Amino acid sequence: MNNLSSNLEKLVIAGPCALESRQQLQECVQVLKEMGVTMIRASLWKPRTQPGWEGLGWMSLPLLLEETLPHGLVPATEIISAEHALMVVHALEHFGHDARMIVWLGSRNQNHMEQKKISKILATGPDGITFMFKNQMWDDERHWLGIHEHILSQGFPRERLMICHRGFSPGKAPNLKGFRNLPDFEMAMRMKEKTGLPMLLDPSHVGGSRENVIDICNIASTYDFDGYLVEMHCDPENAKTDAKQQLSPAQFQTLLKTIRGPSYKKEVA
Ligand code: PEP
Ligand code: MN
Repeated sequence: MNNLSSNLEKLVIAGPCALESRQQLQECVQVLKEMGVTMIRASLWKPRTQPGWEGLGWMSLPLLLEETLPHGLVPATEIISAEHALMVVHALEHFGHDARMIVWLGSRNQNHMEQKKISKILATGPDGITFMFKNQMWDDERHWLGIHEHILSQGFPRERLMICHRGFSPGKAPNLKGFRNLPDFEMAMRMKEKTGLPMLLDPSHVGGSRENVIDICNIASTYDFDGYLVEMHCDPENAKTDAKQQLSPAQFQTLLKTIRGPSYKKEVA
């Protein structure tokens, strides 16, 4: 098992698609703390299908760390390039010994040379870095396994590595429920088995709408996912990215009960 997860509990990373402002992050941190969630997503860099707002970028990396870590939350962001990996490493080193962060390779980031450069930089960075990789956009198990092999080839320790399933582009495949991306839960379970790594599910990018996110988590509950990466925003309708799929805090709280199951007891700090 990975150093962020235990055998007993599902790992939950929740928060906005993108970091938009200090106030947005503070509100989200407060909500998650009250729910006992300890990992918060808030991406600094947003690759876009069409040109648009691309996130606050490197200038907000200190903001992300200072508004989360002192509150006991581990921040998580997608990184796109070796340059981003270097920035994360330097920022964490600057922040101090017990600084922790989760960074991930998104579905669009499929240049193996760049994946290797990123992996090498992260491998030499602080131990507080957990690295996650999503599946690529197209349906291909061999390619997904290849990302795993490229990362390990650069010496990144498998103890700090996780995988996340976010579905595949539907293309011309039948898509009766109108999902944004089609999940292949069996493939995700095979990947988990073959790699021995924790497998998370991203129901937000599978679903593409608030209603679908909840449905997907219900369907996925019969599979052995180790955790979930969920988009939640305090004002979802006005989110700068992925406004249709980000859950409100109340919706997320309901979802959390499904994820955690009836026996979950929040740890009292
Ligand atoms: C995201 O998690 O915000 C994201 C862009 O994900 P994906 O790479 O799965 O589209
Ligand atoms: Mn998103």
